Amino acid sequence: MLKPNRHVGVGAKALTEEIKLLSGLLNQSHDAVVAFNEAKSIVFVNDMAVSMFGCHAEDDLLNHPIRSFLPEENLWYFNAEKEVSGNELTREVHYPHLSQVDARRADGLHFKVYVRIGTHLVNGELTHFLFLRDQTIHHDLITGVDPSIYYDQLTGLPKREALLRSLDTVFESYVSQGRRFLMMEIGIDQMRAINSTFGMEDGNTIIRLVGDRLAKAMMKWEFFGRGSGDRFSVLFEIPKGSSANSSALEVQKVITDAFADPFEFGKARVAISATVGGLEVPFMADEPGKAIRYADMAYYEAKNRHRGEVYLLTEEVVSRVLETSAMVHQIREAVQRHEFYPVFQPKMSLPDETCAAAECLIRWRKEDGTMVPPGQFIPVAESADLIEGIGRFIFLEACAAVQEWKRDPVLAQVKLAVNISPKQLERGNFVDFVKRSLATFDIPPSSLEFEITETTLTLNPKVAFAAIAALQNMGISIAIDDFGTGNSSLGMLRDVMASRAKVDRSFLIGVPYDEKSNRLLNNIVNLMRDMDLQVTVEGIETSEVAEYVKSLPCAEAQGFFYSRPLEKSAFEDFVRSKANYTSLNSGNSSNFII
Ligand code: C2E
Ligand code: MG
Ligand code: MG
Repeated sequence: MLKPNRHVGVGAKALTEEIKLLSGLLNQSHDAVVAFNEAKSIVFVNDMAVSMFGCHAEDDLLNHPIRSFLPEENLWYFNAEKEVSGNELTREVHYPHLSQVDARRADGLHFKVYVRIGTHLVNGELTHFLFLRDQTIHHDLITGVDPSIYYDQLTGLPKREALLRSLDTVFESYVSQGRRFLMMEIGIDQMRAINSTFGMEDGNTIIRLVGDRLAKAMMKWEFFGRGSGDRFSVLFEIPKGSSANSSALEVQKVITDAFADPFEFGKARVAISATVGGLEVPFMADEPGKAIRYADMAYYEAKNRHRGEVYLLTEEVVSRVLETSAMVHQIREAVQRHEFYPVFQPKMSLPDETCAAAECLIRWRKEDGTMVPPGQFIPVAESADLIEGIGRFIFLEACAAVQEWKRDPVLAQVKLAVNISPKQLERGNFVDFVKRSLATFDIPPSSLEFEITETTLTLNPKVAFAAIAALQNMGISIAIDDFGTGNSSLGMLRDVMASRAKVDRSFLIGVPYDEKSNRLLNNIVNLMRDMDLQVTVEGIETSEVAEYVKSLPCAEAQGFFYSRPLEKSAFEDFVRSKANYTSLNSGNSSNFII
């Protein structure tokens, strides 16, 4: 026990020296010992404290404010118990064993400590001695747990497990005090391209350099560490009275500055940018697991839609993403449960209005009988890489129908169109799959058509154009779908060797009563004819529009006016009902005009 020394006015240094007499003893302790004065400045630390707080030497702690290592909120009790008379501490204050409080290492990592406190007058100054016993990370480290659990080997930074510990502290201790944080994920852009240009080793060097630079700027924040791969995680406390958005701008500035100069290694200089997404905690997430999941969600949202800004997650986006992932799950189940099936929408030959073609469209009827429109699930299936399976399914259904119709003199004339999604064409083996399917079903390629939109060509134009050419060489015709919408534009008529273009139904608005609308439709149809394309007008709903379209140089029409998409047997009946039986000799397919 330290005897109170009544010589007043001795500086912190002298004070420290006096206490140091005991340091030999205190250094034996398994507890970290930290003493601080009334100005809340640290005046003594033992060796264990130096290592517990992640410092190199006692000078990293001495004369620093205690609040840098133990948040102020945890220290309120020191103010309450001063019982000093003159230079005498009239009552030696013994505190009970305190419950856990959180502490912070020099590198920002949070950990929990149990604190026992003793207060003494030393050189006339009220001095608080903290005996700290770490319960968590540091405890694990000093008791021989492999540091690689908490520290990333490549960058030396705290990693996800450490982030979880820090988040525990945030939610257990800080949130009840009304404190708010931004939890952000920072990802290096184009990491895959960097790896393939420079190789994995230099890629790792870049991750390390980025980590170093960000660490310098962010080490003082609540947490900075490396997530997985090219990602870093940050916890930034939103200052009292500030909004999450203004704090996000602050974070953005720090990140912009950190990435302003190129990164240099060996002889290379690389300019690097980052994508940043995150959320306000606890406003958007009330527990660590959720915060981590949502930060991930925010990052991908930033990557897809908010590049170049520091993006903060909103409730609407959370519901959209959750709905989407529920839909992805349901699509997977629907595949297992065979809830998908094809329907066939007749395409009428003009001007005689027989049915020589159809579009094969997918339908999803859920177990409870509800129908999910393709407009809802196709985009989700595309984003979740499920479209390939669905596309294969519908194509095989189309092949099976064509095979079955082969023996029917009327139905054998039907050319069946199938929509293909961009991702289907992207896969190198799509053409092989089509080739194999034609052989398996033993059907002629001329009985099939693929409908594509411009988006089909944008993902990976080289691969898409090559696949289209291969399909055409095989004898399958290509139609440009939704022509005139954002999906398919003029350039496509020039770039794709299609045999057909389908005019989108938006061009029928106003037809046939509005002269301008009529002229527009006329011009489009004529333009396509000039480009040697067969023309299909989609979305005809009334007899007036049907009559008008018939007057155009247009070979084919499709729409609810003629027929809605039909299930297979209803479609077969429809085709037969429209067949124009001109021949007297039945049994020979050439005797039917359909
Ligand atoms: P799309 O390829 O342009 O197909 C035509 C859509 O217009 C169909 O909607 C059809 O029911 C609808 N339609 C036809 N006539 C009319 C009409 O007179 N009025 C109106 N209002 N609509 C008409 P559906 O079946 O809901 O399909 C919507 C889109 O979903 C399709 O547009 C296509 O892009 C996609 N889709 C449908 N089935 C498949 C599929 O098997 N694979 C892929 N990749 N996409 C598909
Ligand atoms: Mg289509
Ligand atoms: Mg269309």
